[in-house]
Amino acid sequence: MTGDHQVMIGNTLLGRGFPILVQTMYDEAMPHDEADLEALVRRIGKLNAMGCDIIRFSYPDSSDHDALAYVSKHSPIPVVADIHFDYQLALDAIACGVQKIRINPGNIGSRKKVDEVVRSALDHGVAIRIGLNSGSLPRGNDPIPKLMSDTALEYLDWFEQLGFTNSVVSLKASDVDMTLAANRLFASQSDYPLHLGVTEAGSVVSAVTRSTWALGQLLSEGIGNTLRISITGDIETEVQAGVELLRTLGLRRKGIRIVSCPRCGRHSFDSQGFLKSVESELLTIDKDLTVAIMGCQVNGPGEAKAADLAITGIGNSIFLYEKGILVRKVSKEEAKDALLEAIEHAE
Ligand code: SF4
Repeated sequence: MTGDHQVMIGNTLLGRGFPILVQTMYDEAMPHDEADLEALVRRIGKLNAMGCDIIRFSYPDSSDHDALAYVSKHSPIPVVADIHFDYQLALDAIACGVQKIRINPGNIGSRKKVDEVVRSALDHGVAIRIGLNSGSLPRGNDPIPKLMSDTALEYLDWFEQLGFTNSVVSLKASDVDMTLAANRLFASQSDYPLHLGVTEAGSVVSAVTRSTWALGQLLSEGIGNTLRISITGDIETEVQAGVELLRTLGLRRKGIRIVSCPRCGRHSFDSQGFLKSVESELLTIDKDLTVAIMGCQVNGPGEAKAADLAITGIGNSIFLYEKGILVRKVSKEEAKDALLEAIEHAE
């Protein structure tokens, strides 16, 4: 079964029995200016507070060397360099101090060159993700899921012959059924950890729907040790979606679980606007709490009673609930501060 084999990424362990890790990939070119790099490290800190465990950067060219070295040194979470086409860049990224590289051994050079990368990763204690996409496989007559799984197994075997076992595998396709089949097949034949994802999944709605459908099934079957929800959109949204998926499956407990009504014409409290104003703060709070934000008395008091904390409209007024008990009336203006203060004091 997948994941019994443990992999070390910086100080973080990946494998069965360890938390399933959420990843994202930085969506801009690496900044070079010092102030911008400091801002980037602060942004990674915020992503980490939202529940992101690993961040990946593309490394298309060694002019990013100093920037990647800076981020690898100062990031609060492990940094992964994504390498294509040039094994020298993989060696250079390892020299930058990254904790993991992501390569497709089929596209970064000859066997000798890949050997050099693997030996360097071994010497520096760096993990490798063997990242295979359905669009970039060696040729063969087998169905694509089998070709993906077999290719990954061959690469793992090759790396093991070099004494390297700190590998994670990803088998991604934009086709959900293909992703499911490839990962199930691999998991039935190997205990190396799997990084899950559906690639090129589109903007928020299609990406989250497709990824949740596929990854939810695999995780429920015990397959997968780390994941990325790829979205053509904000990386913060990728992290939020990944954390929410794990929380929905009962695989992660920390963080605020938000219960909010969609709002309708009956509302006396604007649950939509209020959630928008407070959501980014709620997402970075590391307490295991359920917070309800409700528009009116139809479902408000009921959800408020079931939540640790709640803000709900009732009649023409807005009320704060703590542990299911109505504690006070608040004005529209003070609702946000009242909720955040109550969260701060909550156990
Ligand atoms: Fe509408 Fe009230 Fe239900 Fe919110 S709780 S969706 S405002 S009926």
